[in-house]
Amino acid sequence: MESEKPQIAVYDTKPYDREYLSKAAGVEDLDLRFHEFRLDAATAFAAEGARAVCVFVNDHVRRPTLESLAERGVGMVALRCAGFNNVELDVAKELGIAVSRVPSYSPHAVAEHTIALILTLNRKTHRAYNRVRELNFALNGLVGFDLYAKIAGIVGTGKIGRIAAQILKGFGMRVLAFDPFADHEWAREKGIEYVEISTLFKESDVISLHTPLTPETDHIIGPESIAMMKPGVMLINVSRGRLVDTTALIAGLKRGHIGGVALDVYEEEEGVFFEDLSGIVLQDDELARLLSFPNVLITSHQAFLTEEALREISRVTVENLRRFANGQPLLEGTAV
Ligand code: NAD
Repeated sequence: MESEKPQIAVYDTKPYDREYLSKAAGVEDLDLRFHEFRLDAATAFAAEGARAVCVFVNDHVRRPTLESLAERGVGMVALRCAGFNNVELDVAKELGIAVSRVPSYSPHAVAEHTIALILTLNRKTHRAYNRVRELNFALNGLVGFDLYAKIAGIVGTGKIGRIAAQILKGFGMRVLAFDPFADHEWAREKGIEYVEISTLFKESDVISLHTPLTPETDHIIGPESIAMMKPGVMLINVSRGRLVDTTALIAGLKRGHIGGVALDVYEEEEGVFFEDLSGIVLQDDELARLLSFPNVLITSHQAFLTEEALREISRVTVENLRRFANGQPLLEGTAV
C-alpha cells in the first residue's frame, strides 16, 4: 500500500546521512526515500511522488533539474548543508519551489578541522604515523615551525572564521582578518586585526579561507594573490573548492613559493570526494598532481563530520521538511 506520509526524496546519501536523518525523522510523519545517487536533471525522476527533495553540496539544482522537479509537484529543496551555490535560487523562486539550508550546525566542527589540518601539515603527523608503523623512527623531513608569534590571516570572519581565528589566537599567533562586513567590536574584544585583503596576503604565514563561494570570492586565491604572499606561506581551504585556482596553486607549489597546502574542498571534487575510488584510475590530473606533493594534505570534505554536526543538520532539515509538509513557516533564518 502507498504510504500516506509525505514522501521526501533524499539524494546523495551515505550510511551516516541515513542513520542521522532516520533518527531525526522517527517513524511518525515523514517517509524518507534514500538514494545514493546525486540529484541532477537525469535523476530528478526519482522524486516522482515526493513533496520535497533533500540534497547535499554536490547535487546539481539548476534550471533543468528544478523544472523537472516542479513538473513532478516537488515544492521544496532542503539543503542539508550551509552553502547554497549549487542551487539556482532565482529559478526556484520563479517555479515556486521553497529552498532551505542549515546555516549553522556546528561551526566548531569546521573550525576545529581547520586547526587539525594546520597542525598536521605543519608538524607532519600524517607522515610520522606512517613511518613509525613501518618501524622507521627517523625524523628527517619532519621539521615544522612554531605557530606561536607567527601571523595567521583569516579571510571571512563569519561563524567558522571567527572560531578559527580565536583558536589560532590561543596559540599566541597574531591574527589578521579580512571581511567586507567586519565586526570591529568582536575584533577588539578578541585581539584580532582587520586589514585590507592585500595586507593579509602579504603578511600572513598561514592563510585560511572561510568565505562562501560568490562571484567576488571565486578564485580569490589565484596567480595575483599568490604572487603577493610570503614565500613559504601555508594555505588552508575548508570552504569551497572554487575559492582556489588549482592551476595557480600547483604552479606556486612547484616554484616552492607556497610552503604547504591543506584542502578539505577542491574545485573538481564532485564525483570524487565522498566516494571510494581506490580501485579506479583517477582521471583528474590536477588532483593527481596535488596528491604527489609532500607538502599537500587533502581531506575529502569532512570538516563538518562530527556527531554534533550530523545531529544538528538532521534536526533542522527534518523539522523544515515537516513544517513544509504541514504548511507551516520554515525555521527562522533557514529559508534561502
Ligand atoms: P558565514 O556566512 O557565517 O560567514 C561567511 C563570512 O564570509 C561572512 O562574514 C561574510 O561577510 C564573509 N564574506 C563574504 N564575502 C567575502 C569576501 N569577498 N571576502 C571575505 N569575506 C567575505 O558562513 P560560515 O558558517 O562561517 O561558513 C563559511 C563557509 O564554510 C561556507 O560558506 C561554506 O562554504 C563553508 N563550509 C564548509 C564545510 C566543510 O565541511 N568543509 C562545512 C560548512 C561550511
